[in-house]
Amino acid sequence: MLFDSHIHTEFSTDSKMWISEAIEKAEELNIGLILTEHMDINYPEKDSFIFSPEEYFKEYEKYKSNKLLLGIELGMQPNCVLEGKKIIEKYPFDYVLGSIHLVDGIDIYLENYYKGRSKKETFEMYFKFMLDCLNAYTFIDSLAHIDYISRYARYDDSELIYEDFYEYIDEILKTAVQKNIALEINTRRFESNKSIRNVQKIYKRFYELGGRIVTLGSDSHQKGQIGYKLDIAKDMADSCGLKAVYYKNRKPEYI
Ligand SMILES: [Zn+2]
Ligand SMILES: [Zn+2]
Repeated sequence: MLFDSHIHTEFSTDSKMWISEAIEKAEELNIGLILTEHMDINYPEKDSFIFSPEEYFKEYEKYKSNKLLLGIELGMQPNCVLEGKKIIEKYPFDYVLGSIHLVDGIDIYLENYYKGRSKKETFEMYFKFMLDCLNAYTFIDSLAHIDYISRYARYDDSELIYEDFYEYIDEILKTAVQKNIALEINTRRFESNKSIRNVQKIYKRFYELGGRIVTLGSDSHQKGQIGYKLDIAKDMADSCGLKAVYYKNRKPEYI
């Protein structure tokens, strides 16, 4: 059974999806789900993008099953590694997805980050930051959306081209291999075939550098997005020689 390992329900600041809607859609598609609510400690706007794990487990424990697992999307920044680690150790998450949403304290969703800076500059800052975080957050299970910056970058062509940033990307991939961290195939940008081809190069390279496991996720914030192009992500994994997994009780399970 395929698993969508990246879903946000109402515990995430930017989602209003109810868990019942997510479950209904997953049953319709006959897929499993891992909820990954946003926990961006030290987000610039106070009390945004954090949630209470206490309440999360209290409220969702009853929904837990072999097809519905409880994870977290942990925003990585060098200034909150220990705080993040403590939360992960304290609560029984099935899965820890590590993400870069902020670079040097700025949300890269915002235009501010790109203003007055070239693509080369902002993308290099992003990858350097990601590498530093990956070296510090060795306890995550999977590295989320490596192409996240291409969603929001404000350039004529914001596509992530492996060849343009290969020195940085290779270091990140090698670090993930060394630390036994999976790489996520995030389908959010799969609406364009060009984007699919561009990210595929990164997953091929991951395999060449010794990577073997990937997780698949839609990053849904609404019911309709759940399971989006998961089959294409699975085909991509297969074609790169990578095994698609999901995590249960912090251990990879093969799909
Ligand atoms: Zn994310
Ligand atoms: Zn997400």
